[in-house]
Amino acid sequence: MKDSNFLTEHNARHLWHPMAHPADSLANLPDIIVEGEGVQIMDLDGHRTVDAVGGLWNVNLGYSCAPVKEAIRAQLDRLPYYSIFRGTTNDAVIELSVMLRDFFAPDGLSRAFFTSGGSDSVEIALRLARQYHKVRGDGGRVKYLSLKKGYHGTHTLGASVNGNANFRTQYEPLMPGCFHVPAPYPYRNPFNETDPERLAQLCLAALEDEIKFQAPETIAAFIMEPILGAGGVIPPHHSFMPGVRALCDKYGILLIADEVITAFGRTGSWSGSRHWGVKPDMMCTAKAITNGYFPFGAVMISDQVAEVFEGDTSGKGAIGSGYTYSGHPVGAAAAIACLRETQRLQVKDNAAARGTQLYEGLLKLQEAYPVIGDVRGGHGLMCALELVSDRGTKAPIDKKTIGAIHRTTYENGAMVRVSGNNIIMSPPLILTENDVTTILTALNAGFAAHG
Ligand code: PMP
Repeated sequence: MKDSNFLTEHNARHLWHPMAHPADSLANLPDIIVEGEGVQIMDLDGHRTVDAVGGLWNVNLGYSCAPVKEAIRAQLDRLPYYSIFRGTTNDAVIELSVMLRDFFAPDGLSRAFFTSGGSDSVEIALRLARQYHKVRGDGGRVKYLSLKKGYHGTHTLGASVNGNANFRTQYEPLMPGCFHVPAPYPYRNPFNETDPERLAQLCLAALEDEIKFQAPETIAAFIMEPILGAGGVIPPHHSFMPGVRALCDKYGILLIADEVITAFGRTGSWSGSRHWGVKPDMMCTAKAITNGYFPFGAVMISDQVAEVFEGDTSGKGAIGSGYTYSGHPVGAAAAIACLRETQRLQVKDNAAARGTQLYEGLLKLQEAYPVIGDVRGGHGLMCALELVSDRGTKAPIDKKTIGAIHRTTYENGAMVRVSGNNIIMSPPLILTENDVTTILTALNAGFAAHG
């Protein structure tokens, strides 16, 4: 490894960080992470912390998952690459498809289309949704609906259905035909409704209104995260996603579950859709599918959607989408090993138990620190604290204070993530009770110093 002077000097000069202002990165040197072990990371100064971010919601099995590392090494030695475009395939990806079919059978999803990550998965699902309607002879269905505050990656279609201006404004005009409806976000919503169940009903009514306004026969798909993630970990009331499913069925609209974060156990269930008892028409996955060790993703497709493509004799069902790295054998080998470990360790159960412990600890912190306006979680290992300078007005806390809380938390043993005025946590699902205590103690130090 290059020495510390070299790394600190050249980091911001020669690389631009995603989701950061280049000037900020020059002024404030990011932490340079050099090692990972178990659920901990270590920076260039040798400071170790529990990674309460879990990489970027993806390192579900931690940093020392030997079977995944071994599978990657072995596949690299045997076949480091081969394409699965028409005419060829590879054995690893076939084996993975069968495992994914079994894993997602309760979600009614049996076919996989492979990608290189979450944004790709979203792009493919949205494209396939339009194509599905064209193949069926219902080609007027081209629009997409989605939730405000939703995050669906940064490709142009994904950005167009994103519900956060930060990822849109500088890139407009985006795709026409994309419309957003209010999210069931009890802490802030246009209805001033704090009761989650009543709010879910209001949001469903707003969705139905928008469907009618746009004309159902023009709408291809509704895309949603079962629990809004990057938008600030916002779990809906349990009636919401089933209500969306019912509206999609009523109006012939495909339901795409964006489970780039929520698939593979994070919510305490094997998928976010299953958590709410819903079968989507397509599901976008990525991240934990390879534990973050290799860029990879998969769109899972229902039998009913698949049969339309597979039964097509007009030629319209031919898929004109795909990536050089779709079905990459090294990614597939990593995913096979991940799925085995994920199931062997039954990580969803630990996610549920540790998620409850973390959420309850965060609620206690809220009692002590008035800057914590809202605590969200209670569905596995994804939690958020929304920070405000005044609980009455809910004015978001300033950037400097939340930055200072983050820094002190880090110095006291936990890496958390700041997103707007939220502190977000999505630790590895193999977290222990002690690790949760470490996170809460570190946060407490952060709030005690700056809260
Ligand atoms: N969808 C969701 C729900 C996500 O959370 C993300 C990434 N955080 C994406 C899509 C995009 O995934 P990627 O960054 O791998 O392209």
